[in-house]
Amino acid sequence: MNEIPTSDRCLTMVIAAYNEAEVLPALQPRITAALDAAERDGLEARLLYVDDGSQDATWSVMNDLASRDPRIALLRLSRNFGKEIALTAGLDRVERGAAMILDADGQDPPELLPQFIAKWREGFDDVHGTRIARDGEGVFKRATAHGFYRLIGRLSKTPIPRDTGDFRLLSPRTLAALRQLRERHRFMKGLFGWIGFNQVSIPYQRAPRIAGSSKFSAWKLWNFALEGITSFSTAPLRVATYVGIASAMVAFAYGSWIILKAILWGDPVAGWPTMMAVILFLGGVQLVALGLIGEYLGRLYEESKQRPLYLVDCWQPAGGVDSNPSSILQGAGHAYGASTAGNEIA
Ligand code: UDP
Ligand code: MG
Repeated sequence: MNEIPTSDRCLTMVIAAYNEAEVLPALQPRITAALDAAERDGLEARLLYVDDGSQDATWSVMNDLASRDPRIALLRLSRNFGKEIALTAGLDRVERGAAMILDADGQDPPELLPQFIAKWREGFDDVHGTRIARDGEGVFKRATAHGFYRLIGRLSKTPIPRDTGDFRLLSPRTLAALRQLRERHRFMKGLFGWIGFNQVSIPYQRAPRIAGSSKFSAWKLWNFALEGITSFSTAPLRVATYVGIASAMVAFAYGSWIILKAILWGDPVAGWPTMMAVILFLGGVQLVALGLIGEYLGRLYEESKQRPLYLVDCWQPAGGVDSNPSSILQGAGHAYGASTAGNEIA
């Protein structure tokens, strides 16, 4: 077993929550137990809750929890930015040691933390939980998720582990690397895959939500899938090229045949249905290709604006941990960690 350097012997659990007031109190005892276990394991244990602009009582529930445990830090974003950005904001605040990402709804069991830490000790940088079962999720969600991971696996050159979400432990050097990736369209699973280093997966049963309902509707998931594919693959653009080439070849052959027919047998001006069919088909193909280009162009436009990724409304560091006030509004920053990117944990 490798020794983690003293300066890195810290573990922060990062939990992004959006309207999870019902769930947090139920999850807290399990988290506390996990933090205690990490402390027994010789690590300094912290918990960071990110309130992703919740409209319910989430923030006051968090404050209540934090007032009872000095290990808890709180971060509130200026509005709802979505899970990927909320996680980014949380991970940006982990100044030391490793981070463990967890969902707020109890679907990712905190009881597995010691297993994750053990793998970190063995020298792994990205220890991710891979779902072997998804209780409490409908057939449709399971089937679409299954299909999505396989599709993106084929389309993208970045290795993205299947059936693996954000439930993972990131070593200090992975965190430092992640801080350098400041793109606005953040498909975290892809970013983790892009970083590389030593990765290992821990199979686990995904439990149903403790309470409340999923924040990801079918429409949001569809957009999420589109985000993933366009952020990590340009294959759709190539599909447009191939469909274009194929239809141009068919059009050329058909055009030649029409000319030949006219020369051999004259032209009785028939073929209205054929003409309409061809026009509509080509028009459709062109619109689809334009739409595809538009998707990429739109993303380019968003990136070009260079806005900060998020804004912080309130930052409450854990008791006894120094915070750096100058880092508060730096969601856009490249100010983090570049110099520590090469740090080793082992
Ligand atoms: N979440 C968030 N911001 C959002 C939507 C969700 O921080 O805009 C958090 C949510 O509170 C939960 C996690 O992301 O901790 C996963 O969300 P959810 O359980 O709704 O997704 P599912 O497990 O159904 O995919
Ligand atoms: Mg969930």
